[in-house]
Order: sequence, then structure tokens, then C-alpha cells
Amino acid sequence: MNRSIRQVRAGLGSTASVRAGWKPVHEVEVYAAEMSDDEYIDALLRSIGASPTPYHCVETVATLLEDAGFESVDRIATIPGAPGPYYRRDGGSVMAWIMPEGNPDRFTVVGAHTDSPNLRIRANADETSGHWDQLGVEVYGGVLLNSWLDRDLGMAGRVTLTSGEVRLFLDDRPILRIPQLAIHLDREIRDKGLKLDPQNHVTPLWSVEEQSPSFLEYVSDRLGVRADEILAWDAMVFDTQAPARVGLNNDLIASARIDNQLSCFAATSALVDAVGTTADGAIAVMALFDHEEVGSGSATGADGSALSSLLERIGSAAGLGRTSFLQALSRSYVVSADCAHATHPNYVDKHEPNHKIAVNSGVVVKRNANQRYASDAVSEVPFRNACAAANVPVQTYVHRNDLPCGSTIGPATAAQLGVRTIDVGAPQLAMHSARETSGVTDAVYLRDALAAVWQHV
Ligand code: ZN
Repeated sequence: MNRSIRQVRAGLGSTASVRAGWKPVHEVEVYAAEMSDDEYIDALLRSIGASPTPYHCVETVATLLEDAGFESVDRIATIPGAPGPYYRRDGGSVMAWIMPEGNPDRFTVVGAHTDSPNLRIRANADETSGHWDQLGVEVYGGVLLNSWLDRDLGMAGRVTLTSGEVRLFLDDRPILRIPQLAIHLDREIRDKGLKLDPQNHVTPLWSVEEQSPSFLEYVSDRLGVRADEILAWDAMVFDTQAPARVGLNNDLIASARIDNQLSCFAATSALVDAVGTTADGAIAVMALFDHEEVGSGSATGADGSALSSLLERIGSAAGLGRTSFLQALSRSYVVSADCAHATHPNYVDKHEPNHKIAVNSGVVVKRNANQRYASDAVSEVPFRNACAAANVPVQTYVHRNDLPCGSTIGPATAAQLGVRTIDVGAPQLAMHSARETSGVTDAVYLRDALAAVWQHV
């Protein structure tokens, strides 16, 4: 087992800015022999807190992989054939793999997604209304809009410069706010509930009128560059409240982006643990995609060619010709890791009564006859065997027939690759809320299950 990621995780600090708050590996003083489960959870929460955007998630994952000895491979560089751990990043997506000794004959892939529903700053951002300066936002993905009201919001993202450079920024001060309308001014809220218009009701304010800079001035000041050096941005709003352990027994997690960064960091940890212990003949691959929340159809999403072309290039580096590569795909396996719906105590009737899911009771296998999830009886076998080997309990989720079922990267990946695929994940409540809830033990179970997949499949 490779210890270094666990050591480094223990050294992750807060994140006033990208990397600035991270201790380089040589500054981590105490190298524990092995991280305890509690230390893993603390590190997981710090990693999620450090990653308010897909780009920051990739940065955090890349730092963890680098510190564990993974070698960075440029997007367009030739992939090395020598055995060892490698990774490649592209915007909000990062892929990592372990080239084994000998002649590999298959790929064992764990996939997840780096993006979460949120509010994103518009191109022409500056707005003024009723004596307030505001920033216009676009709604990204299936946001539970009410959960963003009356929160202390920060801002983070990436900016492109005229030099061609791409720079990340992160401002974790509570600079933005979306105040809810007072109950006295919303006569219908008692009878009809809260109704939010995404065009008009979720625009954040950041100062009283004429007391804020333009967005361009603000972001250039954050980056320490002139405003005329900035070409464009992908900037987004996030809740500054830090991820935390909650509940009477301290066994729950409350955090933004549990869907799906909990899976991203479980996979990263499991991949590091798998170095030197992967199953014979398998190339272990981790694929963290962007844009799942909007359908995965992008250059860095699961419903594109990014993974299939990378696998072909890895196969070529490993000495596989076209026919051998296609044969290897036929032997391959994909685990799509994404959060699952735990049964909500206040809405038990929203759940399929014979498929209730309990928190801190095991990893969930997701089944859907209409292929919203890719799992089937055959693809369940390797995963269930791996879970048995790792002493991880398994629960099975099926959606109600009278509600539309969500989806994951699983079906897109299965269709793109033609590889047998299973959809799994840790249970959670309040999926797509600005602050979601899940279980401590399930986070550990998911990491252990994914590590067992790479060690046994
Ligand atoms: Zn998800």
C-alpha cells in the first residue's frame, strides 16, 4: 500500500488561494504509518473544501497524485510505455492510470465527475437593481435554488489571459449573498410554497450601488494582473461554509459538492492505494469527467471521445495493436461512482418501498431497467466480489416507476466504449443542495470498494 497520499492528505491546509494554502509534501512533518478512517474523513472534507469548482477539484486531485509519485503527462504528449503511475489533466477533467509490468490485456476503469450544480457568473456580469450592485449568474445543472438563499457565498474559477495563460482564482470571503424575500412580501408562500424564478430571483448582490468594482476589476485585482490582460472567465459562486462532520454521533458529513467529489477523492485515494497491487494484466484507470450535471456532452465529458481516445493511446504505449486494443476493451470493466439517494425520513413515500437505502450501511449498486444506470446482472459480479473481498456491505437502489430517474456517467461511458459497466455510489440526502448530507462510514466503504476493484478485477 502506498502511504504517501495519506501522509499528504494529513497535511492539506485551508485554501485561501490555489496551492497557497497547501503544504508541499516536503513540509508535511508527521508521516503516519497509515491514515486512520477518521483522518481520511478529515482529509476528504479538506479536499472538498479546497475544490469549489471542477478546475480546483482537478488541481486538488493532481496535487494528491503528484505527491504520491504520479507523473504528469501533457495532453498532447506521447504516453510513456514504461510501467508506473501517470496522470493527465484537461480543464475540469483529470485521468490517471497505472501502467503495469508485463503485457496488459484489459482496462479496469473507475469513473466519476468533478462538477456539481451551481451558479456561474455571466459573461457581462455587472448588474444594478434597486440601489444594489449585483452579479448576473447562469444556473448550471439541476440546482436546488432555495438552498443557495441567505448563505455566505464566495467566488472561484479560472481566467484566460492575453498571454494564453489559464489562471485559477479562489476567494473564500463571503462576498456575495442571495437574500430571500421577506415573508410579509410573499403572500403565497404559506399556501403554495417558495417559487423561485431562475432569471430574476437568484441574482447575488455584493454591495450597495456604486460601491463595488466591476467584475473585471475585481477579478484582475484578485489575480494581480491588469484588466486589459483578461480575455474571459469560467467563474462560479460557492458556499463558504466549510465541510463538517455533524450528527449526534459525529457520523454524518454536511458539505457542498458531496455529489460527486466524495467519489472523486475516494477514487483518487483508492488509486494511490492500488499502486503496486493492481490485478495482474489490468491497466488501472481513473477517469474524472466534467459536465455530468448537464448531460456529459463535451470535450471533457463522459459522452465524448476523451476516455476512448486516451485508452487507445495508453494501449498503444503498452504495445497493443488495434485488434489487441479492441480485444482488451472486450475484457475491460468500468465502475461509475456517483452518489445515490438515501431514503429520506420525511419523504419515505418518495422511495421505492422494497429498495430503501440506509446511510452508513454500505455502498449502493444502482439498477434501472431503462438504462438510466448501466448496471446489469453480469456487471454486478466483479463489483460485488470485490466488495466481499474488502468486507464492504452492498445495498441495491431502484427508482420508483412514477418518478423520472436521474442518470450518471455510467450509461454514456458504457455506450462510448462498449464495455460492461456498473453504477455504484455512496448514499446521500439532499442531492444537488448547496449543502448535502452523507455518512462517514459510507465514504470509507466507497474508497475501500474502489481500491478492491483495482486490486481484484
Ligand atoms: Zn452526480
